[in-house]
Amino acid sequence: MRLAEAEHQHEPAVTKDGRHIDVVCNIAKPKDAPSILENGGEGAGLLRTEFLFEASSEEPSIDQQIDALKSIAKELGDRQLVVRTADIGGDKPVSWMDMPHEDNPFLGVRGVRLSFKHPAMFERQLEAIYRTAIWQVEQFGKSGIHIMFPMIAKMSEWTKAREMAEKIRVSLNAPVLPLGIMVEVPSAALVADTLAKQVDFFSIGSNDLTQYTLAMDRLNPELCCEADSYHPGLLRLISMTVKAATANGKWVGVCGNMAADPNIACLLVGMGVQELSVSPANVPAVKNIIRSVSYRKLQEKAEKALQMCSSEKVMAMYKNHDDLI
Ligand code: PEP
Ligand code: MG
Repeated sequence: MRLAEAEHQHEPAVTKDGRHIDVVCNIAKPKDAPSILENGGEGAGLLRTEFLFEASSEEPSIDQQIDALKSIAKELGDRQLVVRTADIGGDKPVSWMDMPHEDNPFLGVRGVRLSFKHPAMFERQLEAIYRTAIWQVEQFGKSGIHIMFPMIAKMSEWTKAREMAEKIRVSLNAPVLPLGIMVEVPSAALVADTLAKQVDFFSIGSNDLTQYTLAMDRLNPELCCEADSYHPGLLRLISMTVKAATANGKWVGVCGNMAADPNIACLLVGMGVQELSVSPANVPAVKNIIRSVSYRKLQEKAEKALQMCSSEKVMAMYKNHDDLI
């Protein structure tokens, strides 16, 4: 980390003309939580819960899940903690679940689809989340937990997930928590205008949104260099999502890896993204670039970038930032 970045890492990320961007972190384990605040992160924008108990030989009990969530919440207090329900399947099998063979696991029973196939397991996870929120309210006066559902591809999946969460919440008399979705399947971005009326927030999962938009397996070493974040098709889906959220007064973040690249962070902020969730080590550099540029100029540049016909042309536009100051 450069000295200038380290010096200012605890200051907010505000552009020269006053636009505040929340810079938060992606984490997977309680042991990652201290590094959020140490690096200047303002909360957790993505807790990948499928990794909490990856080495366990059996499904974690509700109490074990609560203990893990509490130890993260102890670090964060009432700051934002976006708990993504288990995104098991695809590239993320867990040792405690028998996963039938699938020919195309990335197109298979993954994320919320798998949760619906195992409703009791899903309900146990929701119960652990809501019981942690009750404890947080007792401890800190309010809960910063947000619940986020992965791999939502259509409205009925969102509706079902929301109804299941609400049933558990009511049964526990737990506080109302913001409920949102990952936008990581192109169909969700394409109907973002209708989803945005119902959800509390969107978080764009650009790792999966890139692979599904370009039809390029994110793990295939032959393709990973080509699966680029500057592709105009990907950018247009992101822009549609942001516009839909903004028109409906909802916030939208990006929690895929592209948010951690300072050049792409400029592009995302210019498109109207309000939150960037990155690994803790990337927080200082992302905050630094945001503080050095003007939001108005970012917006103008993003508008031009969205008209480009190739990734190369967009990438070239963001190579230097002299025109953004
Ligand atoms: C994503 O798809 O961008 C994302 C953040 O989720 P994951 O990488 O865990 O699939
Ligand atoms: Mg994903």
